[in-house]
Amino acid sequence: MALELTLTIIKPDAFSAGHAGDIIKIFEANQFKIVAARLVNLTRSEAEGFYAIHRGKPFFESLTAFMSSAPALVMVLEGENVIARLRETMGATDPARAAAGTIRKLYAQDIERNAIHGSDAPETAAFEISYFFPGIELLASARAKQL
Ligand code: ATP
Ligand code: MG
Repeated sequence: MALELTLTIIKPDAFSAGHAGDIIKIFEANQFKIVAARLVNLTRSEAEGFYAIHRGKPFFESLTAFMSSAPALVMVLEGENVIARLRETMGATDPARAAAGTIRKLYAQDIERNAIHGSDAPETAAFEISYFFPGIELLASARAKQL
């Protein structure tokens, strides 16, 4: 098991609906430790940069409009295998296909307004963390060595 970092976003739909506290409770119940947090109101171009991998897809315009429509809560989570474990806790992209008890089953409205983002691999986690927290050295093992 590896101690990892991942980036999560409580998306504008869930944040506006007042589900941030419920979602953070789920993080805490799963031992996902919050090591950084920012409330952001993304510009369209920041949303486009974050989701650049999806540029050209049919949902790109609508997705980036949604992500820049209202405040969102961005966090870095730390934990054992947290990248995969967060994805399991989130559930499928489409809430209609998400397992019972997952964050998207509980709080998502539809396949686009689906409550939460989570990095899907170590490489994307590294890019996404640096996108919102540039220059921050966050890994616990690195911090511990400095104590
Ligand atoms: P995320 O990257 O936000 O954690 P994901 O990895 O489950 O979600 P992706 O395929 O990376 O899903 O899509 C990114 C986001 O784009 C989705 O979370 C959703 O908001 C939106 N999206 C994906 N597919 C569709 C679709 N078919 N129609 C509308 N929106 C979509
Ligand atoms: Mg994704």
